[in-house]
Amino acid sequence: MFSSTDGWVTCALGHRHWGRVGAAGLLVHRAGADGPELLLQHRATWSHHGGTWGTPGGALHAGESAEHGALREVQEELGLTPQDLALGPSSVDDHGGWSYTTVLARPLRDIEPGDLRLDGESDGVAWIALGDLVSVPLHPGFEASLYRLHDLLVA
Ligand SMILES: [Zn+2]
Repeated sequence: MFSSTDGWVTCALGHRHWGRVGAAGLLVHRAGADGPELLLQHRATWSHHGGTWGTPGGALHAGESAEHGALREVQEELGLTPQDLALGPSSVDDHGGWSYTTVLARPLRDIEPGDLRLDGESDGVAWIALGDLVSVPLHPGFEASLYRLHDLLVA
């Protein structure tokens, strides 16, 4: 289904982004033995920035809140429902003419990556410790947001 907000946009920083009214993603995090652990999506090789790890998410629909969009995307991509998650604070990465809102969430049940129903946009999903992110290729947008997200994750 194509909605009127589908399409590429060039932001003030000169990137090309998908989603004309911005995008949102869900950063699910839990307390691990060595600090926060993040539920990240390994993006399918055919997708934009394929092969990198980042938050599940996508383009917002017209008039849609970031929270609603992030939950809709994570349901489509990972099969998680709003009942599985408690939403937390969000962080906006505003590029000028385009923005990405990361909504934090904590799991309300045990989420095992092997039990998730992934759609074609993911090659996999894993819990990755915050301290181990340096050892995997990260989506450039997620990587650029990390310093801001870090404060929320360790709060
Ligand atoms: Zn941009």
